[in-house]
Amino acid sequence: MKPQTEALIETLRRTVGPAHVLTDGDLTAWEKDWRRRVRGKALAVVRPATTAQVAQVVRACAAAGAAIVPQGGNTGLVVGSTPDASGTQVVLSLTRMNAVRAVDPANLTLTAEAGCVLQAVQLRAEESGLLFPLSLAAEGSCTIGGNLATNAGGTQVLRYGNTRELCLGLEVVTAQGEVWDGLTGLRKDNTGYDLRDLFIGSEGTLGVITAATLKLHPLPAARLTAWAALPSLAAAVALLALAQRRLGAGLTGFEVMNRFALDLVARHFPQLRQPQLQDAPYCVLLEASDHESEAHARAQFEQLLESALDDGCALDAVVAESLAQARELWHLRESIPLAQAEEGLNIKHDISLPVSRIPAFCTATDAQLAQAIPGVRLVNFGHLGDGNLHYNVQAPEGVDAAAFLQGEEARINALVFDAVQAHGGSISAEHGVGSLKVHELEQRKSPVALALMRAIKQALDPRNLMNPGRVLREPAQ
Ligand code: FAD
Ligand code: ZN
Repeated sequence: MKPQTEALIETLRRTVGPAHVLTDGDLTAWEKDWRRRVRGKALAVVRPATTAQVAQVVRACAAAGAAIVPQGGNTGLVVGSTPDASGTQVVLSLTRMNAVRAVDPANLTLTAEAGCVLQAVQLRAEESGLLFPLSLAAEGSCTIGGNLATNAGGTQVLRYGNTRELCLGLEVVTAQGEVWDGLTGLRKDNTGYDLRDLFIGSEGTLGVITAATLKLHPLPAARLTAWAALPSLAAAVALLALAQRRLGAGLTGFEVMNRFALDLVARHFPQLRQPQLQDAPYCVLLEASDHESEAHARAQFEQLLESALDDGCALDAVVAESLAQARELWHLRESIPLAQAEEGLNIKHDISLPVSRIPAFCTATDAQLAQAIPGVRLVNFGHLGDGNLHYNVQAPEGVDAAAFLQGEEARINALVFDAVQAHGGSISAEHGVGSLKVHELEQRKSPVALALMRAIKQALDPRNLMNPGRVLREPAQ
């Protein structure tokens, strides 16, 4: 180890305690991404316990010219939170910063440290009779800092918005190691440029989020879940419009799944019971939240589904009878990414489109893919209410997944992303850019937007030490 590197490690040890600077042993949990696509090598994994320690760590790294990769739960899907292979980057893990600092029920806010696991925040809000609505399948291990850094979406966006809409204030350690305390619980604050919104969604490239003041909502009196079998995606879009008309803000979830996605769940998790409904190419999971009563919600939901059956936009439907049944239905939906991972490496596309254009997009792109690669298997599911599909491509049955990825990923991405652009969509709806989509972003984002993004990066992190090479390509040396 070079003397300068040794000196940095020594400073980090003094700052956070030797037990929290990891350099040897098995660092897989921090060095490998959730999808197991990439394995990096960290100079060290540093686990500070306070904002002051984060600031000191950043200053020490800056002085030594060492790049920092902020990391929360390491559940991100675009290879943004793991170090590169150089062995020179410091992983700054926030997971020890997991305190809820305050709950203010009258202001409907909760202030949490960045390393708080999302589920812990949901539970803490619930203990106060309130709701923190952000919800995603990784909620048992992803962190608030990671949610904010990626502006995570999830299954409740339709009603409550992305993480950005759920955040009122931030505390950030800048790339220079200064602390910006922007933890206001204010709903109105027009005092200049919105720094909070700059850091949200910046994927660790502008600074380290150390805490946030989050927006809470009243806890609904009842939540009901239904499952419907549908003849087509066009029918799903029609059902969404009907549900929005009938339920208004009471419609809190609308998830779509194609047959193959559910078949994969049946194959890899046979213990999960699937509703015994008429066979159909698509299913949707609907959730309604009601501030009056369960009886009121059930009556509304049943009327809605009856109309859908009469109209022919649903073939068959069932409303969960109990909380346990509702959980089973959600569990089925949330098991799709896990079932896909069990099936093998796949090519993921986290896309968004105007809802109205989704049926045409899928009809055209499904056909193009089938023609380009006979036997290709499409796992198509997602948050239809937000126009967000996880349009994922799995190798044909019996074809080696790694070889498929190697040989076909570029061609498939070009085909799908060209179609997304032609239909007025986005190539990254909720997962972000990380390192996986840097090239695509550069190809497809407008030059003006890219120049503005580079100017922001240059202004906030002129030495390019915060998660370099993520979101934006590293400038040529
Ligand atoms: P990490 O993976 O550790 O980091 C993600 C990015 O944020 C990295 O660029 C990292 O450098 C940066 N970062 C992390 N913490 C900080 C911090 N404190 N300050 C600055 N930068 C930081 N995402 C969705 O949006 N919607 C979904 O429905 C969804 N479902 C998922 C389901 C599964 C099964 C899995 C595995 C993932 C899913 N994701 C989803 C993706 C992922 O869970 C989210 O992006 C999540 O917000 C990441 O949080 P994390 O704490 O794991 O962050
Ligand atoms: Zn999603």
